[in-house]
Parts: sequence; C-alpha cells; structure tokens
Amino acid sequence: MTEAELRQQLLLTLRRMVELGLNRGTAGNASVRCADNVLITPSALPVADMGESDMVLLDNNGKVLQGRKPSSEWRVHCDILNARAEIGAVLHMHSTYATTLACLGRDVPAVHYHIAIAGGDNIRCAPYTLFGEQTLADFASDALHGRKACLLGNHGMIALGKDLDDALAVAQEVEFLCELYWRTLAVGTPNILSAAQMQVVQEKFVEYKKRS
Ligand code: 13P
Ligand code: ZN
Repeated sequence: MTEAELRQQLLLTLRRMVELGLNRGTAGNASVRCADNVLITPSALPVADMGESDMVLLDNNGKVLQGRKPSSEWRVHCDILNARAEIGAVLHMHSTYATTLACLGRDVPAVHYHIAIAGGDNIRCAPYTLFGEQTLADFASDALHGRKACLLGNHGMIALGKDLDDALAVAQEVEFLCELYWRTLAVGTPNILSAAQMQVVQEKFVEYKKRS
C-alpha cells in the first residue's frame, strides 16, 4: 500500500474504533508500518477532528520525519514494530471491559476458547505506570511476549495484527473476552479451560484458518 492509502486506512480504523465503542475523545492511538517507517496518529487530537494529513511519519527510532506531535505512546508502537517482524499494526484503546479488568489488575484466563486468537491461553495485564513513558513500552513488551494483545494496568488495552484489519479484529475479540470474563465473575466462578484443552484449540485453529 502507498503512504496515502495507509494514511486513509489508519484514519478509517480510528473512526471504526470509535464507532465500535472501543475509544472516545482523544483516548487511544494507532500505528501501521509504512515501508521502513511508521505512520502513527497525532497526540491529543479527537478522532472527529483528525484528517489523513494529521497522521505522523516517524522513523523506527521515533524521530518525526513529517507532521505534527506524534501520539504520546510512540515508544510503545515503535518498540513493538521493531521487535516483532510479523506485526504490521498496533492499536491502543481504553475500551470499557478491557479497561475494567485492567483496573482490577487481572490477567484474563481461558474463559472461552477464543482466547487463542490473542496467541495463547491468557491475556496478561501489565503493571500500572504513567502513560507516555518508556516504562509503559517496556511493561507492554513483556506482557505481549508470544501474544497479540495485553491489558495495561489502570489504563487500557493493546492489540496487534499483521495489518490494521487484523489488529482491529483482535481488539474486538479481546473486548468480547473481557466482557465475558467480567460477566461470569459477576454471576459466579467461571469454568476456565485447561492448558491441555487450549493446546488442542490452538492446533485446531491452524486448520480452521485455512478456510478450504
Ligand atoms: P495520545 O493522544 O497522545 O495518543 O494519548 C492517548 C492515550 O491513550 C495515551 O495513553
Ligand atoms: Zn491510553
């Protein structure tokens, strides 16, 4: 995709996150690989006021190549894209259910077999630290080890994908899983799938994803 197409796709993804109730106002941010560089959302600008030209081009060290002030979480985005060649897009949101569990400081266990979509049999919650700091990027990288999503303590959620559509699909699934976990905890004690049960799910998903 050209840089112009990526700018457009990044904006559409941001708008979709708001439509889906995953973000509001200036909460959250997103990035996508753009050749050897990174295209990232601007800082402190509501999505409703964002245009394609507001997206900021960074080099992979986070240096602004073109545009305005980048998202305060540029370190999170650059660190993940630098460390994980298979990841092409990073989304961050303050969605209701993921953030509820993040405020409880809870990892999400295998409450439903779809947790495999996030890459394992749990979704880790990183410890709380101040937004926009290198410590947040470090804690997030640890919590994302072998995963496509994590919670950020007292803050929100990060979802990763091979591209923006994939990352958005992961984010929606994680929000669903967090809602399920929250609802089951409100009623009783959820039945958590075992490591052996989740291993079989992971194997079956490989076949499932082939589609034909
Ligand atoms: P930015 O507007 O700087 O992207 O910050 C929003 C946010 O969610 C910080 O964690
Ligand atoms: Zn945030």
